[in-house]
Amino acid sequence: MSPKNLLFLTASLFLALLDITFVVYNNQRAEESFQHVIQEEGENLHRDYEATKAQTLDNLLFVATYISRDEQVQLLFEQATRAVEEEGGGPGGPRAAELRQQLLAEVQSSWQEVQKTFDARQLHFHLPPGSTSFLRVHKPEKFGDNMDNLRHIIVATNQDQTPRTGFETGRVYSGLRGVVPVFAPETSPEGPRHLGALEVGTSFEEIIKLFQQQYQIHGGVILTPTHITEKMWPDYVEERFGSDLLSCQCGIESKSSDFFPELIMLMQEKELAFFTSGTRTLESGETHYAVTRIPLYDYQASQSSQLGPAGSVIFWRDITADVRALESTLRFNILLGLLGFLFIELLLFLGLRLSLQHLEKEVERKTLELRQKNLHLHKISITDPLTGLYNRNAISKNIEEGIQQHQKHGQPLSLLLLDIDHFKTINDTYGHPAGDQVLITLAQLLRSNLRETDCPGRWGGEEFLLVCANTRLDQACKMAEKIHHCLNTTDFPGVGKVTASFGVVSHQLEEDASQLITRCDQALYQAKENGRNQVVAKE
Ligand code: GH3
Ligand code: MG
Ligand code: MG
Repeated sequence: MSPKNLLFLTASLFLALLDITFVVYNNQRAEESFQHVIQEEGENLHRDYEATKAQTLDNLLFVATYISRDEQVQLLFEQATRAVEEEGGGPGGPRAAELRQQLLAEVQSSWQEVQKTFDARQLHFHLPPGSTSFLRVHKPEKFGDNMDNLRHIIVATNQDQTPRTGFETGRVYSGLRGVVPVFAPETSPEGPRHLGALEVGTSFEEIIKLFQQQYQIHGGVILTPTHITEKMWPDYVEERFGSDLLSCQCGIESKSSDFFPELIMLMQEKELAFFTSGTRTLESGETHYAVTRIPLYDYQASQSSQLGPAGSVIFWRDITADVRALESTLRFNILLGLLGFLFIELLLFLGLRLSLQHLEKEVERKTLELRQKNLHLHKISITDPLTGLYNRNAISKNIEEGIQQHQKHGQPLSLLLLDIDHFKTINDTYGHPAGDQVLITLAQLLRSNLRETDCPGRWGGEEFLLVCANTRLDQACKMAEKIHHCLNTTDFPGVGKVTASFGVVSHQLEEDASQLITRCDQALYQAKENGRNQVVAKE
């Protein structure tokens, strides 16, 4: 894998990891905030329920107080208590029965009214000292039973003659109750003595109905099987709860929707405890519910922390639409993460491509620069710095190549060696820099008299060698004469005339480079010997 791909892959993996972390974090936050809202709703519901319950209990107390203050009611109840006493307690005898009927008739209109206005379900006169039923206005055929161990709210009210409210289950009926002490009227011959207690009760149905109307939230109340069987008469248990009690391990006391039993089964299936406080979401197929449970403590349990709840008030709301909204938020987050990732990947790809393109261009530029430097170095390595002609090394190589061409292809090769006459004297007379200038000018002169195939070089101090490829001796001689003539007609600035001697040779097939050069040197020597300023050629 190329470093470019490796870099891209590593950066991509890192970004993917970052992106996944971001999406997971966002979705967790969304789910948490959804759960938080559900919990908060549950807590608000709990608070509203407690306030509504308190208001209902206040109403019941108000109704009980109102009826108990009716003088006619007080009179009849006073006579009734005396009759029961005289007729042996408990249900009493015929006189007590007569007074019971009279009291029933007396409260009938109030009973109708409170049923209508406050949804009261129960109006009950109790005799002290504990709780003996004198008249159940809601069920007049049942009376005289002792409930000292059952109706603790009544027993307590009869004991300290103070009004009370609370939830309690009786023999027939389970509900919210307001209980007040009843006294004989002021006008009574014996004065206002305590007679017993009057109780007004209602079911939870009223509260649940209110929540359904106000908040579109369904509700139901369940009681524990123990609570039901301990408190109620068995025939009423069968009548009220039937087989429900067994199938869901609880008795449904009231409900705002027929779905309640199904919800109870769902709670059982999802192992959601019935009698503990809290809010949770439940899923049934495509539908989701938020379920809030509020444990229900009866009067006795509210007085003692040892006793557990008698039942539970359960509210539920269909939150399918909210769950779908959450799901689409989660999906949107994932999509956003994916798009974000792709976008960043694209940027990364483009960024890398751009920077690599820049890098490639830089490398290209540097390579060119290096090539140019190498070329320059090469040029320096083959060039004489003063005259700009080839140096001795380069010219030697050229001679070798020319010999090979001659030997392989028969192309003739000639050398022309030129040495400035009395150059030392020029240096001595005009100075070394002037001597240098003579060398430079001579090099230019050589260049301007060359053919394309000729290769000029500085052989030594004031000696120049011309390698003439594909050139016969006569042609090389002509060339030497031409240069000789040109030199003789040239004025060197500050120096005047400068002469030179020429040795010209052509290569013989068996010769190597040094033999050829030696022969050329000998021709030059000959020219010097002959008096300089002339051309000497050697076969
Ligand atoms: P001849 O006619 O016999 O060739 O005599 P000459 O004086 O030319 O030869 P000689 O060999 O006695 O002297 C060559 C001189 O060339 C000596 C040296 O100082 C001079 N010379 C060599 N290279 C350079 C150079 O690069 N610049 C200058 N100014 N002088 C150089
Ligand atoms: Mg010389
Ligand atoms: Mg010389």
